[in-house]
Amino acid sequence: SLKGKTAVVTGSNSGIGLGIAIELAKAGADVVLNSFTDRDEDHALAEKIGTEHGVTARYIKADMSVGDDCRALIEQAGRCDILVNNAGIQHVAPIDQFPPETWDRIIAINMNSAYHTTAAALPKMREAGWGRVVNIASAHGLTASPFKSAYVAAKHGVVGMTKVVALETAQEPITANAVCPGYVLTPLVEAQIPDTMKEYDMSREEVIKNVMLVRQPSKEFATVEQMGGTVVFLCSDAAAQITGTTISVDGGWTAL
Ligand code: NAD
Repeated sequence: SLKGKTAVVTGSNSGIGLGIAIELAKAGADVVLNSFTDRDEDHALAEKIGTEHGVTARYIKADMSVGDDCRALIEQAGRCDILVNNAGIQHVAPIDQFPPETWDRIIAINMNSAYHTTAAALPKMREAGWGRVVNIASAHGLTASPFKSAYVAAKHGVVGMTKVVALETAQEPITANAVCPGYVLTPLVEAQIPDTMKEYDMSREEVIKNVMLVRQPSKEFATVEQMGGTVVFLCSDAAAQITGTTISVDGGWTAL
């Protein structure tokens, strides 16, 4: 059980982050939800998770595109035994038409935020004598697709940083790993369907079947519950010697 541990999950008011926070709460961890929105429903979501699973659940606003906000999130959390760097955005465009400000934003949210939160969290993990860093990378942290230059660059960067954090904590009771999901049907994926339809001149169904799941041999989307279960496993004693590596949850994508 993860009772007594506090998990901070960045970007967790929807999609994979929310799924991970719920599975961690089910496993007994206190959880901190995060996004940049700070709406009543964000706080209500945390309250609901806390009540349903008998843990302390809080929502803390922090914009993961801003380094100081990333560090403040960890400070405000108090404890941070489990850090899940999940916040991420996507933009689909050929590199020569890729808006520079969108490039910078993707690198900031998808990669730099994990640097800032990890830097702030490691001293807390060392003080507590236990820690888990789990970075939600992507199959695109290991392979590439056209029109996703910033995202693929950021995710490869996260995988590299994960290895460095693992080496720097190798002789401590702290591990750092990356989870590499294939396609999971979340708002992020839903939002890129229209642009992809335009890039490939395809219908929605064709995009799902012939573009998104074309490289996912299982021909099924992975689920947010499966991402949460993988994170819970990485927090278990069985995973204490798993560090500096990636776990693909991608229906066989990276085996192709
Ligand atoms: P999503 O859009 O459903 O969720 C993204 C989360 O990040 C939201 O909670 C959002 O509020 C938050 N967020 C966005 N910008 C933020 C900011 N500036 N500050 C704080 N929070 C911010 O997306 P998702 O599909 O659940 O993606 C979550 C992670 O999983 C991302 O890192 C994504 O790259 C990765 N991933 C997703 C898939 C997939 O198929 N959905 C596949 C591989 C990897």
